[in-house]
Amino acid sequence: MDTEVLKSYPLCHRCFGRLYAKLLHTSNYERGKSVKMARAIQLESKLQQLKERTDAEEEIEKVKEELTTLYRSGLTEIKEVEGVEVVGEEGCPWCRGIFQERNLEEILEKTLKLLGEYQYDTFLVGTVLPKSIKKLEERIKTPYMESIKQEFNRTMGKLIAEKTSKRVDRENPDIIILINPYKKKVKLQVSPVYIKGRYRKLVRGIPQTRWPCRHCKGRGCEKCNYTGKRYSTSVEEIIAEPFLEAFKGKSEAFHGAGREDIDVRMLGDGRPFVLEIREPKVRRVNLEEIGEKINKSGMVEVLNLEYGSKRDVIEVKNKPHKKTYLALVECEEEVSDRELAELEKKLENLTIYQRTPQRVSHRRADLVRIRKVYKAWTERVDPRRFKLKIYCDGGLYIKELISGDEGRTTPSVSEILNKRCVCKELDVLKVHDE
Ligand SMILES: [Zn+2]
Ligand SMILES: [Zn+2]
Repeated sequence: MDTEVLKSYPLCHRCFGRLYAKLLHTSNYERGKSVKMARAIQLESKLQQLKERTDAEEEIEKVKEELTTLYRSGLTEIKEVEGVEVVGEEGCPWCRGIFQERNLEEILEKTLKLLGEYQYDTFLVGTVLPKSIKKLEERIKTPYMESIKQEFNRTMGKLIAEKTSKRVDRENPDIIILINPYKKKVKLQVSPVYIKGRYRKLVRGIPQTRWPCRHCKGRGCEKCNYTGKRYSTSVEEIIAEPFLEAFKGKSEAFHGAGREDIDVRMLGDGRPFVLEIREPKVRRVNLEEIGEKINKSGMVEVLNLEYGSKRDVIEVKNKPHKKTYLALVECEEEVSDRELAELEKKLENLTIYQRTPQRVSHRRADLVRIRKVYKAWTERVDPRRFKLKIYCDGGLYIKELISGDEGRTTPSVSEILNKRCVCKELDVLKVHDE
């Protein structure tokens, strides 16, 4: 431990002690002051000895110089030294006095005012350092140092916890309080609330997510009747709006486990989704009550609502789900019972090679997907139409499995029956979880 650094940087006790934070478990202030004092005593006694000699002028000068740097950095409270101007905490180049009570109080007051608008149980302080302080830390760094960030986080965290009775949570805080103590700037970063559940879409004609008008890109124009939207509503909007209102959120994001086409219903026990409410002022609401409100829409229903986390978003986005569909198939020519029985048999455990359908090729990469149909059931409606129930991998485009998409999907129902077939109606009956 040497005091050399004090020559260039008159660090206050607290900051000097921070250079050796990992060496002795006490406050940075105590540690810093103790090291400085021990060194000063050493030097003072050396000075006495040197003064008894006549040939030690040069050495005496050196010792005095080091003593001066020590006293300058705040040790004059121990001893008055003539000609030494003390650099107080405010002049300390590292902390610049940010730990002084009135500074802490000013920041605390600002923080509490901002926090007052939010419901939360846990928080975390994140100190933001100006570049110049980061550079200084680089220059004076020791292997035992802690950043001033850590000490400020700790100090402020304690003060806020005392005032608010809320808990510090390092892993998953409801609110991160970003503080630049040098500029006395405080900003809140409010964690989103996640609600997970399953939705049923009972009607055809609405998209899963908000669909901006393509003429004005959402700004509103004549073509979209100044709504900014191509469709008047969506599953997302029907579900999100009442939640957004209840949580007093700023915005939302809707994450579905895949999506169905606009003209496809989502029946059975629904499709998993996670709704992310950003910057909520309220974090706990009665989910069931909101669910009931949504279910009254007659278009969309929600079930199994519960609170989730960011992890659920990743899971819902990435976990493959097998699906069961029900399609109404129409053929150009009549189709016999024997042909339908044959179709069921041929589709069972069949591997399908599906090049990106023409209708989505403008927004999806052109590649061949390999998916499997596990089982199929048929039920005649009239000579040219039948119902086809299919249990298959997620990501298989069913309309194209039926039509063949001009040879881009193979084999297909059209190919197997050797007749042109189209999908007239489609419902998702189940999104399988296993
Ligand atoms: Zn300092
Ligand atoms: Zn428009």
